[in-house]
Amino acid sequence: MLQETCRVIRLERLSTDTWRLFLAAPGVAARVQAGQFVMLGLTAGYDPLLRRPFSVHFAEDGELVLYFRVVGKGTAMLATVKPGDELPLLGPLGNGFILMPAPAFVVGGGIGVAPLLLLAKELAGRDNQATAIVLAGRAAAEVAPLADSFHRWTDNLVLATDDGSSGFAGRADEALSSLNPASGSVVYACGPQPMLAAIASFCRKKRIKCQVSVESAMACGMGACLGCARPAIGGGYVHVCLDGPVFDAEALPWD
Ligand SMILES: Cc1cc2nc3c(=O)[nH]c(=O)nc-3n(C[C@H](O)[C@H](O)[C@H](O)COP(=O)(O)OP(=O)(O)OC[C@H]3O[C@@H](n4cnc5c(N)ncnc54)[C@H](O)[C@@H]3O)c2cc1C
Repeated sequence: MLQETCRVIRLERLSTDTWRLFLAAPGVAARVQAGQFVMLGLTAGYDPLLRRPFSVHFAEDGELVLYFRVVGKGTAMLATVKPGDELPLLGPLGNGFILMPAPAFVVGGGIGVAPLLLLAKELAGRDNQATAIVLAGRAAAEVAPLADSFHRWTDNLVLATDDGSSGFAGRADEALSSLNPASGSVVYACGPQPMLAAIASFCRKKRIKCQVSVESAMACGMGACLGCARPAIGGGYVHVCLDGPVFDAEALPWD
């Protein structure tokens, strides 16, 4: 894990409330694996005091890319940064996806698409294994701006929208089911809790291995504050920052 001052390269608006932030962060970019996250300070000052967790969306040639939605004060501040601004960064943190030698089905819902572009790149580097990717959102405006970057890493990209305005009309789990993944394949998913619960249930019935990246509010990102504790199967707790954010779906209770 590194503490690095990163420099804003550029900010790209993708929809009314989503953005991509390109950062010069050579240390973290060189070490990060898909599914890991960073704690980003939103100002060099003290307001807000706490850094915010963001999955690494992509990393290449010393550049780190975040994909974020404005939901509150910190992310609103992030949407106003300027090229050349410097921000404190800690990472890479947590456990990422474990790449398995099997056909891969990658499923992202909403802002949960964030960690999946780097995963798509890593999966594309494997030999002789197909990768299908589902990007799901409420409407075309949410998923269409992401399509080009994912097309770079797969020939099998499915956009799915709740309102049917682009691609498959239906939810992420229904789009996954329509691809008919065989047992022996692996599903990698990130998105809202109900989506992950539906996908975990689908995979259990089909005997498909499933890794999920989950979110939980956290203050420190390294196991000190214990704010990100979640119940574990069989009792006790896991901590999303240290034990995750990527888990085997069978390790978490879904009801
Ligand atoms: C491991 C991890 C990875 C993440 N990756 C991304 C990412 O790639 N892109 C992205 O946009 N967001 C991501 N998040 C969520 C992101 O950290 C929060 O949206 C952000 O901290 C909100 O900060 P804020 O100051 O704008 O909002 P605040 O003012 O702190 O909160 C505004 C509202 O958002 C809610 N909120 C805050 N944090 C979360 C959270 N973690 N989950 C659900 N609701 C929350 C609050 O309850 C409140 O209702 C991730 C979270 C975790 C734990």
